[in-house]
Amino acid sequence: MSGHADPRAFKTNARRALADRELNAALGRMTAGFVPNRARAVAALPEFDDLSRRGRELKDHVLANLDHYLEVFERNCAAAGGQVHWCAGAAEARAAILEICRAAGARTVTKGKSMVAEELGLNGFLEANGIQPIETDLGEYIVQLADEVPSHLIAPAIHKTKEQISDLFLRHHAALGFEQRQTEPQAIIGEARQILRQKFLDADVGITGANFLVAETGSAVIVTNEGNGDLTQTLPRVHVAVASIEKVVPTLEDASVLLRLLARSATGQEFSAYTTFSTGPRREGDPDGPEAFHVILVDNGRSALLGGEFQEILRCIRCGACMNHCPVYRSVGGHAYGAVYVGPMGAVLTPALAGLEAGLHLPNASSFCGRCESVCPMQIPLPKLMRHWRERAFEAAVAPAVERFAVRLWAWAARRPRLYGQGARIAVRTLAWLGRKRGRLSQLPLAGGWTGGRDLPVPEGRTFQARWRAERRRA
Ligand code: SF4
Repeated sequence: MSGHADPRAFKTNARRALADRELNAALGRMTAGFVPNRARAVAALPEFDDLSRRGRELKDHVLANLDHYLEVFERNCAAAGGQVHWCAGAAEARAAILEICRAAGARTVTKGKSMVAEELGLNGFLEANGIQPIETDLGEYIVQLADEVPSHLIAPAIHKTKEQISDLFLRHHAALGFEQRQTEPQAIIGEARQILRQKFLDADVGITGANFLVAETGSAVIVTNEGNGDLTQTLPRVHVAVASIEKVVPTLEDASVLLRLLARSATGQEFSAYTTFSTGPRREGDPDGPEAFHVILVDNGRSALLGGEFQEILRCIRCGACMNHCPVYRSVGGHAYGAVYVGPMGAVLTPALAGLEAGLHLPNASSFCGRCESVCPMQIPLPKLMRHWRERAFEAAVAPAVERFAVRLWAWAARRPRLYGQGARIAVRTLAWLGRKRGRLSQLPLAGGWTGGRDLPVPEGRTFQARWRAERRRA
């Protein structure tokens, strides 16, 4: 797998993922790590909700004035000696990066973690043009060696077990003199560090993402826990920061609000181990730093979301909390989504970027339990946005005809409460009778997709409405 699979294959991918024991074991680690860590970090900060409200208001303000803040950013970036490249689409962004690399005579580039670079398909593009990209974030390095793509926003190799990584390293590093299979995490990390050290020194260009762009200073901000981002941007002669347009914030103080939310929501840290602000290239007297600093500003469909019903997804700061808490993501992992952005935020963003028809399954990959919305530090109403996509799919008639017929039938009945109640009573009695011997139903007309993966327990005799009425009478 060298590119993102097709989101249209979600159902097939999900079935395969559910049967994959190693994947299930790897994903199980998330429950033990991210979820309690976030809960502890949030509980330890009494003003977390207030910070979250400020973060939401701040991003809403930026999105309402995006053109202004991007222009301020460009002005201040140029004043610091940097250059901003405005790119409407992926092809334009790739071409701009290639031109910079060629002008620098680059043969190898080191890369920090960047989801926007994933969106651009940058690695494959650079390779096709004779430039070797080397991922330096450990998780990204692992998926690059495995010829895979990231499966999580902040933990790209979360789908891999330690044993799989040991085997992978042995396979790729043996020829480089690392012939012993390492099994302890520290030894595995140490081996990657030794290999990457020389790559940092050899690279001509360093490409990073940007968690935020600060308009008042023209700075790009990145956070990492490994320090690889700093080495990627300070050692090569040229630093290229790739960022989507909604990453801009007005001031340094605004960036600090979002940084406090990001670290706690992502890993449960108060602050990430490394938070680096890059402002222009090296100045006279600076001991290190690149000779040139470029910012690739990528729109790629985002401005079309401004002012519409999906604008709120542009508040996302890519913390990953929604996927860490999502029962669907935790069961099938990120690759099942077949898209760059996965989990609940990906289910909203993918149809916007890839088109409704391609992303159709993703807004349906939700139990609507609401946990994603409850943990989102930017208060993005993810279930509501997924519902909007479902409505769009229904209106555009891209869902299968039988599904649309069922929804229409249900809507027709739901508008007639008396008829609906009678129908529900008949259905409940019929199902109870059909399943009376086994206590469950393995097949149902029009619900083969549901019963294909599990049995339906037989209803206990009365409808919800009947029980509700009885409860109220008793009360
Ligand atoms: S949608 Fe919210 S919880 Fe999910 S990654 Fe974005 S900011 Fe984090």
